Amino acid sequence: MNTASKKIQTVKFHSFGCKVNSYETSVMMNLVQNHRLNIVSTDPDLHIINTCSITANSERKIRQLINKIKRNNPNTPIIAVGCYSQSQPQILLSEGVNIVLGNKNKNSINHAIDKLNINRNCRLNLLDYKVTEEEKVTEEEKVTEEESDLYFNKSLKRTRAEIKIQDGCDNFCSYCIVPYLRGAPKSRNIDSIIREVRNLAENKFQEIVLTGINLAKYKYRNSDLIDVVQKISEISEIQRIRISSIEPEFFQINNIMRLCQIEKLCRHFHISLQSGSNTLLQRMNRKYTFENYYEKIDFLRKKFKDLELSTDIIVGFPNESDIEFNETLTNVEKCEFLHMHVFPYSERLFTKAQSNIQNGVWNKVDNSVKKTRVKQLIQMSNKLKKQRLMRYINSELEVLFESSNFGLTQNYLKVKLEKKIPAGIKKEQIIGKMSKVKIIDAKEDYLSALYPE
Ligand code: SF4
Repeated sequence: MNTASKKIQTVKFHSFGCKVNSYETSVMMNLVQNHRLNIVSTDPDLHIINTCSITANSERKIRQLINKIKRNNPNTPIIAVGCYSQSQPQILLSEGVNIVLGNKNKNSINHAIDKLNINRNCRLNLLDYKVTEEEKVTEEEKVTEEESDLYFNKSLKRTRAEIKIQDGCDNFCSYCIVPYLRGAPKSRNIDSIIREVRNLAENKFQEIVLTGINLAKYKYRNSDLIDVVQKISEISEIQRIRISSIEPEFFQINNIMRLCQIEKLCRHFHISLQSGSNTLLQRMNRKYTFENYYEKIDFLRKKFKDLELSTDIIVGFPNESDIEFNETLTNVEKCEFLHMHVFPYSERLFTKAQSNIQNGVWNKVDNSVKKTRVKQLIQMSNKLKKQRLMRYINSELEVLFESSNFGLTQNYLKVKLEKKIPAGIKKEQIIGKMSKVKIIDAKEDYLSALYPE
């Protein structure tokens, strides 16, 4: 399609990376819809890519996507936003992207589109772009960062809604690029969060997933994360509140004691461990030992019945020895995680680990060693998951159904119905509703269940 002459009317979004990015993609979707553009899945007039820079692999996938778009539709422009745009705008522009926007100016997406309407072949780095008063054409588009967070994608037919309440981090873990791309911690106004949740509740969402770059850092005036959870739990239509991912520093005894009083809080936490070796944790600039971490999860398990835990582990961090890796292997087994996200270490710009490698202070771990270790940890993760899932056979669990045969328990177990729903029950009676099911088997990744006759 030749898009050179007509105004951009349709957009396809591509979202990479974390839950914060996917939330920000839905905010941008609402902004472009308010700008009278349609979101399509094929043959768009424009591609918008919300990029991620967390690993070398995510960056490679983004470059592959850009190349594919350019090969198939060389005249269709591309706007790239987000972390990869922020860290390496020149690379993306040289790959064929027309406009790059950073993390801070995702809300300027419509103004970037207007620039493409003036010149479809432009190449612009708009990382420092701020909307001028003259460019604020309509009241609708005078969206402050906080107000834009109130938008959500009304077309989502899901029962769970993610909302972003925090951005930024200043922990400076030695492998992590995020503090350099998203800046210092910032927390969203608690009243604005509650307004958005009420809006979601009116639109039949029953589960709220709180997301942020480092949720442990949430602090708005005198309110902390637990105050946010508490306030949301007072909204009667909301049945479940989930904390998406959280740093171990959050689980101080007094926080755990306050949290366990909130019944609607889901009994599943994703708490990043990153390594089970204390010497390695120190090189990673993580501020805890394995023993501190274990003490916390042990106390959590005592306070929350049927608690499930998942985590992230980095494999092949510089200088990781066999002894350190084996410590990780032994210690993660002790933690009995339901799931582990295993990431092979990749060098990130600006980080201490990268400069230590470049200055010869630390050595890279050989790729073949890294691969073997990743495999070993994934095997361990699968074994632990199976053991956790087996514990639920023959029990009755409450599931919030996202489709007619799939749903999640509050402690994040995936449940699939073994047989079709009984005759006489309509799909609409199940989807978006809580139902008790009987667990009959544990598969690799989920529990198999029967719907009550
Ligand atoms: S806590 Fe560490 S890993 Fe997480 S965003 Fe902050 S610096 Fe990165």
